[in-house]
Amino acid sequence: MKELILLKEGEIALKGLNKRNFEEAFIRNLRRSLKGIGKFDFRRDQSMIYCEPLEEVDMDEAVEAASKVFGAAALCRAGITEKDMDRITEDVFVYCAKELLAAKTFKVAAKRADKRFPYSSPELCTELGGRILDKFPHLTVDVKSPDVVVNVEIREKNAYIHTGNRPAAGGMPVGTSGRGMLLLSGGIDSPVAGYMMAKRGVDISAIHYVSPPYTSDRARLKVERLCEKLVPWTGETAFYCVPFTKIQEALRDNCPEELFTIIMRRMMIKIAQRICEKNNIQCLITGESVGQVASQTMGAIVCTDNAADMPVFRPVIGMDKTEIISISRKIDTFDISIEPYEDCCTVFTPKHPKTRPVLKDVIVAENSYDFDALIEEAVEGTEVKIFR
Ligand code: ATP
Ligand code: MG
Repeated sequence: MKELILLKEGEIALKGLNKRNFEEAFIRNLRRSLKGIGKFDFRRDQSMIYCEPLEEVDMDEAVEAASKVFGAAALCRAGITEKDMDRITEDVFVYCAKELLAAKTFKVAAKRADKRFPYSSPELCTELGGRILDKFPHLTVDVKSPDVVVNVEIREKNAYIHTGNRPAAGGMPVGTSGRGMLLLSGGIDSPVAGYMMAKRGVDISAIHYVSPPYTSDRARLKVERLCEKLVPWTGETAFYCVPFTKIQEALRDNCPEELFTIIMRRMMIKIAQRICEKNNIQCLITGESVGQVASQTMGAIVCTDNAADMPVFRPVIGMDKTEIISISRKIDTFDISIEPYEDCCTVFTPKHPKTRPVLKDVIVAENSYDFDALIEEAVEGTEVKIFR
């Protein structure tokens, strides 16, 4: 039986006059995400997106990909049938057989958008319910909490049958909430931070700092793999790789050791910001969670933030590690994140980092050396790769 994917709009459905823009962005993202799987036709009708394959496709794979595109609250795959009561009945017997055989109770839910169909919705429920009872005599009807709901939708072109929704990605379509630069390390937190901002519709680019020869090529490749894992959620993602060695060496040689980490953080922010300005990106995103490590105390965050002229979003700021880990498992970045590779943050780390840095002192220390030329050089030496 031919099938399609139904996606029920989430927050988009609540939008007013500009709802269309959000729907178009959603469909554009769906189209892009399903491109490698096959050709699809997209239609929208009453807060529902109908995504119908135009050729033989792997539907499991298509549903999996569609369930990662932000914008829908729920989705399901449905059988496509004719707008004819006997055909609908026959097809329900086959298409829903597995669920009906496993269930004890059921009900029929009907939606009739095409009023030319000779049965009203309640009539359709009664008629089809009766036929199902005849065919599957072990079942009884339970309208309150049935094991299975047989949904029938009578639409313009066809009738659709399915046995229920499952949660979709939620959120807003990527690209409808501006653009952000994710500071992506190899750790657990920053991929989750990127996922969370993408979920709110932010178009994500990623930036990563490397310090060869102190950090290896394999460490960078690990972060690229993390970036690839984000793509089903974030869509096309630019990955900027910044040569950070000279700055770290200058820091080691010129700044008080206990302020090394905090000034390094400020350098990261300054470089990211320069690249954002060149590429029309409006905010920075990090995986910082308050209190987690010495560089993430309130005092340290105050000092880091001061280096930024643009908003720095930290979507996991109030989350426990266990909560962050559960999201990282869900988005399948966890296993890569825990691979033991070095990060530039672990190069030249002080034995006793200041957990309560004073902004004034940090700025004095930073100004004792002229980092501008090195920042410029790092920006110039940045390489970009597109993941899609
Ligand atoms: P994560 O799990 O994201 O690595 P973390 O708990 O290890 O975070 P830190 O090492 O203190 O925390 O880094 C804090 C944040 O700084 C990271 O979440 C990330 O956004 C950014 N960051 C750290 N190292 C890098 C790097 N090499 N390149 C880009 N961003 C980085
Ligand atoms: Mg880290």
